Parts: sequence; structure tokens; C-alpha cells
Amino acid sequence: MPRTSSLEAIVASKCPRCRKGDVFSHSAYNLSKFDHMPAQCPVCGLYYEVEVGFFWGAMYISYGFSVGIVVLVGVLLYYLANDPPIWVYLAAVTAVVLVTTPLLFRYARVLMLHLFSGVKFDPSYSRD
Ligand SMILES: [Zn+2]
Repeated sequence: MPRTSSLEAIVASKCPRCRKGDVFSHSAYNLSKFDHMPAQCPVCGLYYEVEVGFFWGAMYISYGFSVGIVVLVGVLLYYLANDPPIWVYLAAVTAVVLVTTPLLFRYARVLMLHLFSGVKFDPSYSRD
């Protein structure tokens, strides 16, 4: 069976060490539980919060995502809707950010784990 790549593990929100364990316990659109994470990876036992306050850094990643959405929606509206009134920009950006909030939150944390935790993939944890 081929190994899961780092990008596949990020997209599927998997543990950075074993690339098999789920980082989140519930679906992204279970609105009351989308942010629930187990303390440890259910497959390899890695503690996801590698140090106290580790996930505070994910706020900066989430902020970057939000800025990207504002720019993307703004550019799309400008060219596709022929520069509509300002309230259309505000309503569209607000709607897109609200709808994507669970995904932004989760991918900010997953990227934080994969890029800045210092945890490397270890194939010995990913055996079936
Ligand atoms: Zn794991």
C-alpha cells in the first residue's frame, strides 16, 4: 500500500507522525463539535498540543486565510459583478468567511501541526 504523502495527510487532517490518526473527532460541519480534537492521536499516541499554547499560532494562519478570502472575493466581485456597491463586497466577504470558518479553523491547526510542531513522519507508526 502506498504511503500517504504529507499533502494528503494535511488535506485529510491526519496526524503528522503516523498520517493515519484523525486530528479532529467530528465532521467540519458538525457546528457544535467541529473544533473538538482528541488530546492524543488515536493511532500513534502523539500529543497534538506539543507545548502549552501551541495552537495560538494557528490564529496567524487563520488570519492569512481570511485575508486571502477577502482579496479573492473582492477581486472576483470587481471583475465578475462589474464593481458592485460596497455593501455587496461586505456581505459577500462576511458570508464566505462565516461559511468557511470551520474549515479555516481546522486547516489552520492542521498546518500548524504539520509545519511548526517539529514532529516528523515516522513510518514505523503507520503500519497497518
Ligand atoms: Zn498519529
